[in-house]
Amino acid sequence: EVRVRFPPSPTGYLHIGGARTALLNWLYARKTGGKLILRIEDTDAERSTQESIEGILDGLNWLGLDWDEGPYFQTEFADEHVAAANRLLESGHAYKCFCTKEELDAKREAALAAKKDVRYDGTCRNLSPEEVAEKEAAGIPYVVRFKVPQKEGTVAYEDKVLGRIERAYSDIEDFVIVRSNGRPLYLLCNVVDDIRDRITHVIRGQDHMTNTTRQILLYEALGAPIPVFAHMPLTLDLQKRKISKRSHGEIVAVQFYRDKGFIPWALCNFLVLLGWNPGTDQEIFSREELIEAFTLERISKVNSVFNYRKGDPKFFTDPKAISINAHYLRTMDIEELGAMVKKELEEAGLWDEAYDNDKKQWYLETLDLIRDRFHTLKDFCTMGRAYFGDDYEIEAKPLKKNILKHPDLKKWLPMLAERFAQLPEWTKEETERVTRALAGELDIKPGILINGMRTVLTGQLAGPGMFDILIALGQDRVVQRLQNIDH
Ligand code: GLU
Repeated sequence: EVRVRFPPSPTGYLHIGGARTALLNWLYARKTGGKLILRIEDTDAERSTQESIEGILDGLNWLGLDWDEGPYFQTEFADEHVAAANRLLESGHAYKCFCTKEELDAKREAALAAKKDVRYDGTCRNLSPEEVAEKEAAGIPYVVRFKVPQKEGTVAYEDKVLGRIERAYSDIEDFVIVRSNGRPLYLLCNVVDDIRDRITHVIRGQDHMTNTTRQILLYEALGAPIPVFAHMPLTLDLQKRKISKRSHGEIVAVQFYRDKGFIPWALCNFLVLLGWNPGTDQEIFSREELIEAFTLERISKVNSVFNYRKGDPKFFTDPKAISINAHYLRTMDIEELGAMVKKELEEAGLWDEAYDNDKKQWYLETLDLIRDRFHTLKDFCTMGRAYFGDDYEIEAKPLKKNILKHPDLKKWLPMLAERFAQLPEWTKEETERVTRALAGELDIKPGILINGMRTVLTGQLAGPGMFDILIALGQDRVVQRLQNIDH
């Protein structure tokens, strides 16, 4: 059985890099019928926060990435981590190192000056048991180092994405596994947890590759089977910098996309393409399609680009993310969309209980009518505001282009309102007939009336067909708005 894990360190919000890691692991678990284990790596007590833990769980829930086991918390297994370090000491795979920081720094500087190897020189590697006992008795603090085999050859593994990866033993320093305060290092804890959780596949970023070779040595020394590794590319910005919380701020937070009106699966769909490709031109994948299409082998080898230009007012994030979101808005099941828009309207104070009852059909039809040009759920409360309430703004552009250009509209539109008010039947055909008739009498192009109406009734320059809008808004509202065109 495949067992994968998502082990975030709870030191900040869930960002799109973490979400992508979670997504790829989730996809692999769902594809193989395996299990996804959620493990919170809270070993770094100073930097871990409860708020961050909650943020990560919320973010995963919002994205719809469910897990099968956990959340486990790394700190609950502190004893196991210590026990593993002790086992490694006993089996001779690790040793106590009493070198002081000052000694190490001095050696390092000397080596740097002589352009020699700066790695730990193994001073304490061959201390006799008596020497060790003596130093311990004297109360000299020590760290525990892993004894990297001194032999020819390489640590090698078959990366599912990158192929064979090798690193010479002679390249790997005797790395620290327990600090002088007795706390095992993350590198070891992570392996101990993966062994206990019986993880079969480790899917994580290429930034962990230097850990991987060292961790393979730990697996071997602990006598545990080595999982399959699949390293994902990093995501860079247009300046080729790694996307990070520090340099990119909120646009990399999953929360940001929720706040901006993203559809959770649309964000997943965007994220998967930052590091995986199907080998075809297909970009839009339903959940089921993506689970079906997903393979570790098609994870990209090269870094992906988060195409975001700071300060571009048109795009608050990668335009592809926006266009994928717009695609889902346009095409998704209307009832499902209705539930999402409901939340937005509620927040904006525009929700009417009737939309769940006798006006439900109207509500869903109206969403369907206006969703075509929208990019996010927020648009229903901004560009679509006029459909749900009377306090909407008329945008400057249509005002200038349609109303100010034809000031007589201030007379014409109330005339139209009067005729609309008298219509016994409120249909597209009737409203269109009346509009064209008035334009004829006034000897103007019907377009002038139509664009003027659109501006006054919706505040927008573009939108659905005018006569569809009239039906959606209803006779009363249309008449009222056209009568008071300076509303
Ligand atoms: N806690 C690590 C991180 O957030 C996970 C490393 C791993 O996947 O092994 O980067």
